[in-house]
Amino acid sequence: MKSQKILVTGASVAGPALAWWLSRQGMEVTVVEKAAEFRDGGQTIDVRGAGRVVIQRMGLENIIRANTTHEEGIAFVDQDDRTKAFMGVNAFGGEGPIAELEILRGELAKLLILHGQDRVAYRFGDSIEALHDDGEQVHVRFESGAEQAYDLVILAEGIGSATRNRVFGDEVQRRPLDLYTAYFTLPRQPSDGQVMRWYNIPGGRCVCLRPDNLGTTRALLSFQQVPSGYEKLTRDEQASLLRQRFAGAGWETPRVLAALDDAPDLYLEAVGQVRMSRWSKGRIALVGDAGYCASPISGMGTSLGLCGAYVLAGELGRHADHTQAFAAYEALMRPYVTQAQGVPRFAPRLASPHSRLGIGLGHAVLRMATAPGFKRLLGRFLSPKADAIDLPDYDVLQRT
Ligand SMILES: Cc1cc2nc3c(=O)[nH]c(=O)nc-3n(C[C@H](O)[C@H](O)[C@H](O)COP(=O)(O)OP(=O)(O)OC[C@H]3O[C@@H](n4cnc5c(N)ncnc54)[C@H](O)[C@@H]3O)c2cc1C
Repeated sequence: MKSQKILVTGASVAGPALAWWLSRQGMEVTVVEKAAEFRDGGQTIDVRGAGRVVIQRMGLENIIRANTTHEEGIAFVDQDDRTKAFMGVNAFGGEGPIAELEILRGELAKLLILHGQDRVAYRFGDSIEALHDDGEQVHVRFESGAEQAYDLVILAEGIGSATRNRVFGDEVQRRPLDLYTAYFTLPRQPSDGQVMRWYNIPGGRCVCLRPDNLGTTRALLSFQQVPSGYEKLTRDEQASLLRQRFAGAGWETPRVLAALDDAPDLYLEAVGQVRMSRWSKGRIALVGDAGYCASPISGMGTSLGLCGAYVLAGELGRHADHTQAFAAYEALMRPYVTQAQGVPRFAPRLASPHSRLGIGLGHAVLRMATAPGFKRLLGRFLSPKADAIDLPDYDVLQRT
């Protein structure tokens, strides 16, 4: 493909990775991010399977490894903080519930951006207000008032992508998983250690505490509930909702709820997936969660975003026509995405049973998970097939 002028929207994981691979081919790439400035921190995500291969091919594995959260495993605890089941990071060859490469989302995004910033133009605090594809170019008007035409526009805006909704309209299908999850940061205390602790509460709720590498602790609270618009409440309303839902829950929950007031980064999401019958329309395409979010439950979002960026850039490089490139990208990625999205709707109920009996049974099953015989069987549920794609070796991506 001849040198192209490409706009990428969204500077998290998929956007900066795509921009780096495109710029490596001499394409002129601009990334526009709606957040006013780079957002640090975020929650722990994992890089696994083919996603790790992409990181290796980017030459980033060592620096990512140096910036992981160094979690040693996951402990399922009772209200007295006694461990009822434990899985070490190597229980499933480094690809289990806690993968070998666990890193804060903001840390990964920062490394990806830094890696490409000498060749990619990053612009924060702006987003697309209107766009028009005339078949030859995409004409974009930004919120800032700037206007520009591009050969291609790639949306990497995450699960809630407004531009995707504008371009694809009714084609955007959301699959709710009837689960709300809240994330925020709280001060670290000695009991937080180096292990993720998962505490189940009757009623299909759980509280998890995860160590990070920045001297703080990351809290995750989830409860099962059909989509109810809670993600649109104000921050204070969300904090009240969480206090009410988790009142009297025991364990370290009072400490976690007390930290809500000062948490700078409370984020409540309705967990779900994005399913699209196509990932491109004319000169506009989707990458990462914007096109095929599999949900945090799948543990595959980052790997899908990284692989999608790599394959899309490689196909754009080897086809003269963007239509062929988009078709090849979809043909290669679609089976990988489909299996990652095969999370059963009842998965949240398995992870957070409703009764004390169910919680006890769950712990018993988890205790057996690493025993010979059960390991292979349960491994299929506990660790996704993160390497279920043959990543092509693109000659065009070898250029510097
Ligand atoms: C709490 C949490 C835990 C997770 N755990 C895991 C895990 O264990 N393993 C895993 O693989 N994945 C996990 N994921 C998912 C993972 O973070 C994403 O799937 C992955 O980062 C893909 O990122 P993305 O770049 O496609 O989208 P996102 O990371 O959602 O980024 C989208 C970016 O676009 C920006 N944006 C939005 N709208 C616009 C706009 N209109 N214009 C410009 N910019 C815009 C946003 O500000 C954001 O920076 C988790 C996600 C969350 C929220």
